Amino acid sequence: MKKILLIIFCNLCIASAFAQDKCGAQMLKESIIARHPAFAAELDRIQAAQSVQLTALKKAKLYGAAEKTTSTGTVPIIFHIVLNAAQIAQLGGIEGIQERADSQIAVLNRDYNAGNGDAYLIPAAFKPVYGNVGITFGLARLTPSGGCTSGFEIDTTTAPGFDYNGTAGSQQGFSNAKYSITGGADIWDSSTYLNVWVINPTSPSGILGLTVPLSYIGGASGFTSAEEGVILNYGSFGVKSPNVQYFLNGAAGGRTLTHEIGHFFEIWHTWGDDNGACPWDPTGKDDGIADTPPEGNSHSGSYNMPLPTVTDNCSDSASGIMYMNFMDYPDDPYALLFTQEQALQMQSNIISGGESYSLTTHPAVLAGQGCPNLAVANMSTINTFSISPNPTNGPVHINIGNDGQSQKITVINVLGQVVKTIIPSANVSIYTIDMDGMQKGLYFVQCYFKNGMVSGKIILQ
Ligand SMILES: [Zn+2]
Repeated sequence: MKKILLIIFCNLCIASAFAQDKCGAQMLKESIIARHPAFAAELDRIQAAQSVQLTALKKAKLYGAAEKTTSTGTVPIIFHIVLNAAQIAQLGGIEGIQERADSQIAVLNRDYNAGNGDAYLIPAAFKPVYGNVGITFGLARLTPSGGCTSGFEIDTTTAPGFDYNGTAGSQQGFSNAKYSITGGADIWDSSTYLNVWVINPTSPSGILGLTVPLSYIGGASGFTSAEEGVILNYGSFGVKSPNVQYFLNGAAGGRTLTHEIGHFFEIWHTWGDDNGACPWDPTGKDDGIADTPPEGNSHSGSYNMPLPTVTDNCSDSASGIMYMNFMDYPDDPYALLFTQEQALQMQSNIISGGESYSLTTHPAVLAGQGCPNLAVANMSTINTFSISPNPTNGPVHINIGNDGQSQKITVINVLGQVVKTIIPSANVSIYTIDMDGMQKGLYFVQCYFKNGMVSGKIILQ
């Protein structure tokens, strides 16, 4: 018994050691109200309206099915990677970023479709409310102008990161990362793409993610649609594999974005961001969700297995709080479920008539018909290269410039197949490729520099 008590005590120790907010949701809410006091009443109206919406859906008997009843299209995600050269290198360069983007999408599709293999770890008391959100995600393959993309764009900065307070747009919520004029990346049409900015938050530095949902746009908040979407700490982007990769403690499983997209679809922290109040307190708001138990404050850190029962000042049953919910703060391995009612709330925003329905109506953006399996849209202006002659009937000279920093040059056909690879030598800037005898048509050249990849086209006549 002593041992068990000690283990539980240690769990709480770990939890308190990570008491700092992982997610900026409460900070954002409070900073908007500080700047725009009228937003407090507006937020109450937003949450009341969502409650009414949820009640109506329950009455429509959608609730209880635990499965989505309306099929939705896939949501295109674009990752705006706004990092400096050292941070891009920490992610493994272009190839590492592609791996992270791919693994991140896989996690989302698993967690949002009741497909997470670790769901068996959910305590027995909560298994009956395990929900299937039924939303699928994919990497965007077309840019807003119809060009090809691999689902991320890299905007190489020289800055170490971004502060919560900015000078552009709303001037809060790391807004400078969302505008090119302040060294960030401009949003892609938020009615087509779910925008995720992958950055290094420098102040406060512990933030793993922060989301501006559609309900915050316009009105008294000071936010415009130019900032709708998710800020993601680059140390919690994707899934760790192999072990040498850079990740922040507890955030190597891709679940930060699972949590943040929950906010994007208008669900909130399980404890309600109400500073410890319980639902029955005068100021207690909790999360407005019936099948997540009342909870005082966030719970974070790691836990022993099987997961222990944890109670806090708001617990109203022997089963305790649902700290393993995606909308609480556990380390990634202990975040296991959305509930059925959380799923219903999110579904209500993505089905026909919902605020985010338009995101599901762009299959062409996901298909990227005609795009090779490559084409990273790169915004780096630090490195350039030239191709001549172009068009060509055989020989092509690729000049990577005097700095000789390119690490790899590849030529790829329209099917995405690599047809030539060159590993540049030190102090050599011009490389000649002979394409004589190859099938005529369009080819893509990718030059991998230390701080990013730049692509170009060759026309073989
Ligand atoms: Zn959050």
